[in-house]
Amino acid sequence: MRHTATIQALQKLLQDRLTTQPEILTAHSKDLSWHPSHLPDAVCYPISNQEIAAIVAICNANQTPLIPYGTGTSLEGHILPVLGGITLNLSKMNHILGFNEIDRDCTVQAGVTKFQLNKFLQDKGLFFAAGPGIDASIGGMMATGASGANAVMYGTVKDNVRGLKVVTADGKIISTRKRVQKSSAGYDLTQLFVGSEGTLGIITEVTVVLHPLPKFVAIAVVSFTSIEEAIEAAIQLNQSDLPLAMLELMDEAIINAINQYAQTDYPVQPTLFLELHSQKENLQVFYETIQRIVQQHQSTQMRWATETAAKEELFKARYDAIYAVKALDPEAVVWATDVTVPISRLAEIILKTKKALVELPLFGSLFGHVGDGNFHTILLCNFEDAQAMKRVKDLNHQMVLWALEMEGTCTGEHGIGYGKKEYLQMEFGESGIEIMNKIKKALDPNGIMNPKKIF
Ligand SMILES: Cc1cc2nc3c(=O)[nH]c(=O)nc-3n(C[C@H](O)[C@H](O)[C@H](O)COP(=O)(O)OP(=O)(O)OC[C@H]3O[C@@H](n4cnc5c(N)ncnc54)[C@H](O)[C@@H]3O)c2cc1C
Repeated sequence: MRHTATIQALQKLLQDRLTTQPEILTAHSKDLSWHPSHLPDAVCYPISNQEIAAIVAICNANQTPLIPYGTGTSLEGHILPVLGGITLNLSKMNHILGFNEIDRDCTVQAGVTKFQLNKFLQDKGLFFAAGPGIDASIGGMMATGASGANAVMYGTVKDNVRGLKVVTADGKIISTRKRVQKSSAGYDLTQLFVGSEGTLGIITEVTVVLHPLPKFVAIAVVSFTSIEEAIEAAIQLNQSDLPLAMLELMDEAIINAINQYAQTDYPVQPTLFLELHSQKENLQVFYETIQRIVQQHQSTQMRWATETAAKEELFKARYDAIYAVKALDPEAVVWATDVTVPISRLAEIILKTKKALVELPLFGSLFGHVGDGNFHTILLCNFEDAQAMKRVKDLNHQMVLWALEMEGTCTGEHGIGYGKKEYLQMEFGESGIEIMNKIKKALDPNGIMNPKKIF
């Protein structure tokens, strides 16, 4: 067994909250993506900041890799223990520590999930808006710099955090900022740890920003004859004064997958999903504005809902796009990737990508949070088919090159993880990477924190 001294010391500290059971190791060896699995040597479940500090100290003394783990939903091999070591599962750190109605913030342990937090907030007239539509942990979302469908109105997690508590790689517990709306005191340590993907330290507590629940919500689902028209409509909708909380594009391939997965009956055409949040009753005006714009772009159907049940029905399976695609071929490997470009270049890159997808000899689909220039492809591939795998890799590569040429980024929300390391180099160049490397070495000189990720 590798890392025996570390495991024995951790067993003494954590007792049955450390496990080497094969099925638990396997569950922590893989994400949903195409990246090959790697087993950790043990998985531990801490319950306090002090315990995490002690775990880090043990791993540091023995130079054992330590991989923080929230809910394991990241998509670029982030949580794979590529050198073995200890996976630190934060699911037992799931307490809400403080709620401040007047300040509109809430302090939670890192293992609290987005749905759990919003359930706690539901009778308080506030909600946590940022991050994916699935139930990821708040710590994991901060660590990946996540965002989601409603970033167009509420921003990403980077815009929705007041401060963090972090255990550093040398076992110190630090606060990155006071619980204030603004501060110009010193370097911004909060934003240093946000997006650091477990490579600099362990986020143990997060103070998040809350938003008032919108008084009026409406949903529109609009189908178009072509993806070109759908994108043009999206750009025009984005420039209007509609209170857009979500503006999503799905191509006909994803719509087809969703129809099969959730027994919905959306027309199998490129489709825009819109969500409007407003504190004023202007829904009829919004409806008319959307209709006017989409009709200029050959929309074929517009569905509209303002009542809760109808809204839920209309958005059924909208957040399950990846699972809907996977269900088409449960044996296949999912390859999900994302890039972001300035909105003015969005149509160009989406059309190039769509053309390339159509030419692939496998299932390829495209959807995007087009309100902020971010879009994804989801492909299904088979590891045994080397030729097809190569073409998928080439497409991924090409999409990043196009995005970088268009002043975009290699990832708008999934992060770098294991899968996009070479593209970080391209995006920042040698000097940028050198600075990041210096920060990594200063904060984690033994390289124990989630090794082989980002760089
Ligand atoms: C169906 C589906 C839909 C998705 N949609 C979106 C989307 O819309 N937007 C989006 O941004 N992402 C999306 N994702 C990706 C994923 O949900 C996000 O990356 C999410 O932020 C990961 O959170 P997690 O708790 O699962 O973190 P994990 O996957 O457990 O970890 C992610 C990374 O963060 C590190 N980490 C985790 N917790 C901590 C901590 N407490 N301290 C330090 N490091 C930590 C890990 O080491 C790892 O490097 C989607 C994924 C799936 C499967």
